[in-house]
Amino acid sequence: MKLYNKTKVAPDILDAVLVAAGRCTKARTTGAVVKVTQGHRACSSGYAKRANFVNTWHLRRVRKWKEERVNTDGGYFSIVLPQRFSTWDALDLAVSFFQVAIHEWVHIADFQAMSRGEFRAFDYARAGSRRRKHDTRPEELRAIDTTDAALERGAVSRNQDAIIALALEIERVSRG
Ligand SMILES: [Zn+2]
Repeated sequence: MKLYNKTKVAPDILDAVLVAAGRCTKARTTGAVVKVTQGHRACSSGYAKRANFVNTWHLRRVRKWKEERVNTDGGYFSIVLPQRFSTWDALDLAVSFFQVAIHEWVHIADFQAMSRGEFRAFDYARAGSRRRKHDTRPEELRAIDTTDAALERGAVSRNQDAIIALALEIERVSRG
């Protein structure tokens, strides 16, 4: 996984949670590009895009004339690590981050399957353009279902060490 970490959380801790989430899906994690940013809201969110490469200015601050491409494996996703508020438990935040990561990996798995011609890109025709109400799109329903199924099979407890390590990091970072 090519991790672009724009948070204060240690990259190896993010990496462990993100790869664990990817393993709950059919995605190949090795070549995927993942960008993590620090959010100001109390919940995690993300978006995935189908792409063969990403321009580095999407990933980090670069000089305009130094634009480069980073190859992806089917696509990339961006995910927000929420900030800890007094009303929010760091463990809840870590779990929500893990769940959103599974969801985005399902999209990556779909993009990778499309690259192999396993299903039609038509299903994702509206990706990148104006979208219908988020949760009604078939790819969204599939991502939600797959994530729920992984959670029901115990994805959180199976990966609790990585998730707890992230929660401790969120605590550490929020203490400044
Ligand atoms: Zn989605």
